[in-house]
Amino acid sequence: MKVLVINCGSSTLKFHVFELEETTTLGHEKALAYGLVDRIGRRGEVRFISEGGQVYQMNDEIVDHGMATQRVIEWLRSHGFLKSDGIQAVGHRVVHGGHQFIEPTTITNSVIEAIEAMKDLAPLHNEPSLKAIRATHLILDRPLPMVAVFDTAFHSGMPEHSARYALPREWEEKHHIRRYGFHGLAHQYMAERYASMENKELDKVKLITLQLGNGCSGAAIDRGRSVDTSMGFTPLEGLMMGTRSGDIDPHLPIFLAQREGVDLEQVDLWLNKKSGLLGVSGLSSDMRELLEAEALGNERAALAVEMFSYRVKKLIGAYLAALGGAEAMIFGGGIGENSPAVRNRICQGMRWCGMVMDEDRNKAMAGKEGKISADESTMGIYVIPVNEAIIIARETITCLQKTR
Ligand code: ADP
Repeated sequence: MKVLVINCGSSTLKFHVFELEETTTLGHEKALAYGLVDRIGRRGEVRFISEGGQVYQMNDEIVDHGMATQRVIEWLRSHGFLKSDGIQAVGHRVVHGGHQFIEPTTITNSVIEAIEAMKDLAPLHNEPSLKAIRATHLILDRPLPMVAVFDTAFHSGMPEHSARYALPREWEEKHHIRRYGFHGLAHQYMAERYASMENKELDKVKLITLQLGNGCSGAAIDRGRSVDTSMGFTPLEGLMMGTRSGDIDPHLPIFLAQREGVDLEQVDLWLNKKSGLLGVSGLSSDMRELLEAEALGNERAALAVEMFSYRVKKLIGAYLAALGGAEAMIFGGGIGENSPAVRNRICQGMRWCGMVMDEDRNKAMAGKEGKISADESTMGIYVIPVNEAIIIARETITCLQKTR
């Protein structure tokens, strides 16, 4: 079956066309095309690549994710992907499923309305996917089944003691407040891929997975299931990120609103868009730029990188305690996959728990999959470049087969 996967970030749209079946194991799917629309909302950059390696590239004004979707579908049409033997289904990643959506769900008008109604739960996160879903619906020449796959799903089975906040029960129930967790597709991919690389059964592995990109989160995985994760009710909780603060004293938003004379929406925007690596460094949210600036002696950049690594290290300690030890830790995401320097800082001084990095293996591993721990390390350290798209494609097929 040929499946189009659309994955929207805040200013990006990635797409993949795969040929696979429900039973295809990770890594055995056939990628027919993929591409990226970057810098949506500004002068966008489009880069699409077909199976034969032909590249289509252009810069254009891309006002929103709807327009980005239109560009993708026009390109797919011109390459014959929309013919009757072409794409048979579309899978969309949706960040927040709220309390209503856990399992992948066939998209109908009422599903779109329900996701729309969750806007106040995730104001900054679901809008791009909604625009892409609507645009796909409008632009396709023939109706194709579409499925929404939620980034919260993998964490939905977290035990109550990690899923709840220490708040009065009635508010939690009234407003569906809980620690939903995000990046579920990425954590699921790392866990499944680790099990298959090491020839282990997924339901027997105990892991810590780290998705370190612009958004960052960790997960504690016990017997293949997420039992805790660092993001919560929204993706703002937990680790320090590119522009998000992560954990802060809960009193700070009120304090800032009062002292700065702004409303809480404004503070929310600051915490989401102006904090994290960007806020601390005063320079950039991009880890590459910060590492370069640090090497040139920029102290604020150095502090930002140090805080980032320290907070990840603290999370590892917490999850080792929660899990009672883990057999491996996995790095994914743009930083986790590509930065030996940051991985090294995070793993420094962790010999006490059996975690020892092999410097050469670490340095050699950028954007590739493999083990970076030393042979003497009793806890494995791995890099696994995350492929969320393949999980979305597989879940799309499974959902459609169930509802057929
Ligand atoms: P998103 O969460 O938006 O998908 P990515 O997973 O693409 O983000 O990660 C983006 C982050 O990865 C940026 O901070 C970028 O600087 C960082 N990154 C990418 N390549 C490298 C590298 N070689 N060294 C350090 N950081 C890198």
